[in-house]
Amino acid sequence: MDVSRRMFLKTTVIGGAGVTVFGFSLAPVYAQTQGLKIARTTETRSTCPYCSVSCGVIIHTLGDKAKNVIPQVVHVEGDPDHPINRGTLCPKGASLEQDIVNERRLLKPQVRRPGATDWEDISWDQAYSEIAQKVKKTRDDTFVEKDAAGHTVNRCEGMAFTGGCTDTNEFNYLVVKSMRSLGVCYLENQARV
Ligand code: SF4
Repeated sequence: MDVSRRMFLKTTVIGGAGVTVFGFSLAPVYAQTQGLKIARTTETRSTCPYCSVSCGVIIHTLGDKAKNVIPQVVHVEGDPDHPINRGTLCPKGASLEQDIVNERRLLKPQVRRPGATDWEDISWDQAYSEIAQKVKKTRDDTFVEKDAAGHTVNRCEGMAFTGGCTDTNEFNYLVVKSMRSLGVCYLENQARV
């Protein structure tokens, strides 16, 4: 059969619907092609971090978890068993793989000092240390024991905390306990927005 380029493209499109001019369906071939991409992956269920809808996603990772093997995320799709999105994702969620596998993704803490124009790489230990010092100083400087009417309030008005929709219940429990122990009263979460 003489197949022109136009006919081949037409056949390809029609084949996806299960009928071709060749007389056989290409649908199983397409299905197999889709299957190959995730045939050897590990599935990890997670939550899209982009907005408060919190759609469920399945992250497909290649790698047999052997020592010295770096896992590679190869595909992210909506979780059909998730009650919120039932397998669907908006364009932002559908591009999640690019959020994970991206040469511009930050892998270490950075700080931009007052007056500086560039970001500076710092170690995690240094980041923790500097954050702890600033939290201590801010709390000391802004802690209020009594309000204007003389009522005991014991609150820190100089700090606020906001969480994300991917935070677990356990994490949020610890956050609230920690922040309340510091007297922080401005607590918010993106999942409420
Ligand atoms: S997939 Fe879209 S709608 Fe769902 S949580 Fe992500 S950004 Fe929000």
